[in-house]
Amino acid sequence: MSCHDIGRGMNEVVRMTISLFDKGEISRESAVKIIATCGVAVNWCDGNEGEAIEYINRCRCGKCLRLVHGGEKLYSVLDLPYNFKEDRRIDPDRLRIVSYGLCEECFDPVLRPFCDGMYSVDDLKKYIEERHDIKDFTSEGEPPAYNNGCKWVRGTDWFD
Ligand SMILES: [Zn+2]
Repeated sequence: MSCHDIGRGMNEVVRMTISLFDKGEISRESAVKIIATCGVAVNWCDGNEGEAIEYINRCRCGKCLRLVHGGEKLYSVLDLPYNFKEDRRIDPDRLRIVSYGLCEECFDPVLRPFCDGMYSVDDLKKYIEERHDIKDFTSEGEPPAYNNGCKWVRGTDWFD
């Protein structure tokens, strides 16, 4: 059994970080570093990185942090071809992204350095679109209302 509470705790910090980023109180660079740290911090317990970034995973790009409108493309790097991921040791750290989703604009520049004669970025998009349900590669448009099934501790304005 893994621990879901540390993921919820870190997800709460991710939510506040995004709020500060949206209000212009912190830069994208700072937000990215805090969120990446929340992802690895779940290792202080037997936590899941995916739960720490759940707040952004299905609605924001893990590179530019943009909120992607509902129905617009948001590809998951988890859905890339298995051998592509294995051979190139693809993970968020190596791609310098903080969640699994990539918007249409960021997909190409993030993945092109890992492409070669075997795969082009268009091949990768096509692979994902042909093998997954449309909801798996489009944005939900808004963050989840709950923190992995639980109520959020507070709103994001509580310390203003
Ligand atoms: Zn993006």
